[in-house]
Amino acid sequence: MITLALSKGRIFDETLPLLKAAGIEVLEDPDTSRKLILPTNQPGVRVVLVRATDVPTYVEYGGADLGVTGKDTLIEHGGQGLYQPLDLKIAACRMSVAVRADFDYASAVRQGSRLKVATKYTAIAREFFASKGVHVDLIKLYGSMELAPLTGLADAIVDLVSTGNTLKANHLVEVERIMDISSRLVVNQAALKLKQAGIRPIIDAFANAIQKEPSTS
Ligand code: AMP
Repeated sequence: MITLALSKGRIFDETLPLLKAAGIEVLEDPDTSRKLILPTNQPGVRVVLVRATDVPTYVEYGGADLGVTGKDTLIEHGGQGLYQPLDLKIAACRMSVAVRADFDYASAVRQGSRLKVATKYTAIAREFFASKGVHVDLIKLYGSMELAPLTGLADAIVDLVSTGNTLKANHLVEVERIMDISSRLVVNQAALKLKQAGIRPIIDAFANAIQKEPSTS
């Protein structure tokens, strides 16, 4: 049995066409089913639904053989024990720094001020501000980061930005683009050796599908 870990939402939806290219069709809709293990048309392949941040952990410890996860999640996890053969170019967005429209970020940085930065992505934020030589106090949040500068909890946030609409709706502006983000295929290294015959064709079909259909997102 080959087990693929996916998270509900954009990653699940954007992985379906790649699975189809590998001849795999998921037989239940995660939006209507309460099941966490979804069968596919291939008796030897199943999909497990896990939280996005848990995908690397499932694959690292062999709870799943393969998974699809964002570069952001992989960096935060550390990526240890994971073979990362493909950038799937799906769920594309960017990791950015944003502040209130009335906060003068450039001069705060120039003056060497210590910034309070709220984020779910503490590893990425720590590395980014260290590389700029900016001193920061990181405040770990698990969601609704946009609220932090509005309530005075933080001067800045580090978060994913796609269209920019969420920032705009909360009167925040993007002041730094840290990195482009997209989702990767991750594979358990032992499974790659032991289940090579089942896993290789999936990797190859995904690779072919990406080349044929460059992402529009
Ligand atoms: P947007 O308003 O389109 O810029 O989207 C920003 C919101 O969606 C933020 O709350 C982000 O955390 C979230 N978001 C955007 N892109 C992604 C992605 N690829 N994966 C997970 N969350 C995302």
